[in-house]
Amino acid sequence: MQAQTKAIAHRGFWKTPGSSQNSITSLLKADSIGCYGSEFDVWLTKDSKLVVNHDPVYKMRPMEYSKGDALTGLKLSNGENLPSLEQYLKVGKEHNTKLILELKALNSKKRETKAVQEILATVKKMGLESRMEYITFSLHAMKEFIRLAPAGTPVFYLNGELSPKELKELGATGLDYHMGVIKKHPEWIKEAHDLGLKVNVWTVDEAEEMKWLIEQKVDFITTNEPVVL
Ligand code: MG
Repeated sequence: MQAQTKAIAHRGFWKTPGSSQNSITSLLKADSIGCYGSEFDVWLTKDSKLVVNHDPVYKMRPMEYSKGDALTGLKLSNGENLPSLEQYLKVGKEHNTKLILELKALNSKKRETKAVQEILATVKKMGLESRMEYITFSLHAMKEFIRLAPAGTPVFYLNGELSPKELKELGATGLDYHMGVIKKHPEWIKEAHDLGLKVNVWTVDEAEEMKWLIEQKVDFITTNEPVVL
């Protein structure tokens, strides 16, 4: 039997009425259409709280230099409040879609280690360890997820410069690379699979590109258009 390419909603399923990027609604919408996973972005605040948002600065508030309460008091475009990680996971726990957590690159390695520790402790406390996958552009944060998460936890690297062989040596589950990187290195799909690694590609919104990736047997496609996929 051949494995099928699975759909991951990028920042949740947000291109639909009532939703917005990284909102709890976007997570529910991704689950409601049967996405394998729903991706979301996480920051560590000044007072070491974890919040869900993509941008380093939202409504003039810098994520890393603001207190958690100030950020979770802000409104998203659909009227929801910007969620804390705990609020987000609490809702995710009641549903089935995998929780694809991207830790944003932070302003120091020390803070990235702190963020990884806090994320893993929160997830453990909530009984969600088997539902999580971790992705990051930061090489340090990736190494920390591999070092500190329970064995077998999926950890993927986003930044694009490491070959499958290099990722395998670091203990990563696989690569989660931009479509441009995969077009430049199409051989990395097979190389990764031969090494037992998984391949995820972002952010693929065009049907033709989706078809090509499915033919190449990539494991996951991360998309703003999960219905098209
Ligand atoms: Mg992201």
